Amino acid sequence: MSDPIDISLSRRGFLAAAAGGLIASAADPAAADPAPPAAATRPVAVASANGLASVARAFELMRDGTDPLDAAVAGVAIVEDDPNDHSVGFGGLPNEDGVVELDASVMHGPTHKAGAVAALRNIRNPSKVARLVMQRTDHVLLVGEGALRFAKAHGFKEEELLTDEARRMWLRWKERLSEDDDWLPPEDSGGGPRTRAKGRQDHVYGTINCCAVDAAGNIGGVTTTSGLAYKIPGRVGDSPIIGAGLYVDNAVGAAGSTGRGEANLQNCSSFLVVELMRAGKSPQDACLEVLRRVADHAEPRLRDSKGRPTFGLSLYAVAKDGRYGSANIWSGTKFAVVDAAGARLEEAAFLYKKD
Ligand code: ASP
Repeated sequence: MSDPIDISLSRRGFLAAAAGGLIASAADPAAADPAPPAAATRPVAVASANGLASVARAFELMRDGTDPLDAAVAGVAIVEDDPNDHSVGFGGLPNEDGVVELDASVMHGPTHKAGAVAALRNIRNPSKVARLVMQRTDHVLLVGEGALRFAKAHGFKEEELLTDEARRMWLRWKERLSEDDDWLPPEDSGGGPRTRAKGRQDHVYGTINCCAVDAAGNIGGVTTTSGLAYKIPGRVGDSPIIGAGLYVDNAVGAAGSTGRGEANLQNCSSFLVVELMRAGKSPQDACLEVLRRVADHAEPRLRDSKGRPTFGLSLYAVAKDGRYGSANIWSGTKFAVVDAAGARLEEAAFLYKKD
């Protein structure tokens, strides 16, 4: 079993490895795409790139009159239910003990109400539980055992969320974690040093965020995730924290995020994106400005030799009028969008260009 110091070392190793692929070419923040967004229409929904089917579903539902939050939750449930997406819901990668712990939040523009769950086990659709926290309690956030009991009180069924494939991925990580434990990889596994950095190469982020605006300009948003893979049990990321992983203001727009949750928590990014849109920035420019703030605040251990963050963080935003945008710290990221022109993936703007 790793202690917290081991995890910290492992994370550094992983991030350094990740940076190795990113830092080969210098880039200028001005490299971000300044193109104005296409003429805005409603309904519209944006999501992380794993949400192409989700935005399509959300659009259909909004077109038929469904509330934008209900439409977004129905959209992300497709990914929560998908065993092949290892970043969300059923089939998500587990914590360091091999247990899947899910985080999710929802926010409803017309009522300005929010609900969230964190470190929820054994329930595959945490976004639906988060919506019930919003609708059927006087609270915003339930965690752990209390969140599970609340879900069961509302009829959710417990099930094992760790699929065989996710378990094998976790086992592979665990066996290569360090030389200080009793776990050994099989002899025919390709060899290589058992170093923390090697183990952490499997250490991945992943989430789905979906923000939706209906034809009338009402807004809903949801973020749902299994969080950082192989995290310390009990670790909560940005996804269930209103203002960090998700924020909606029905007068302005909505924003959400995927990527290194710790950076996002330290900068209240989604709230800030919405506030910058309120001050007049386009969704894309608001995302970029917040990412500059995140980059400015990055700890020295999380910077490359040029001072740039070694991690990835994506922000997604929609404005009440139907404009939308997304940006990542690094180039090469796509996001999903749907509007009258159909569901598609588009390139996100970025601060720094990678090779
Ligand atoms: N933001 C999520 C978290 O930190 C993970 C991710 O989006 O990749 O839990």
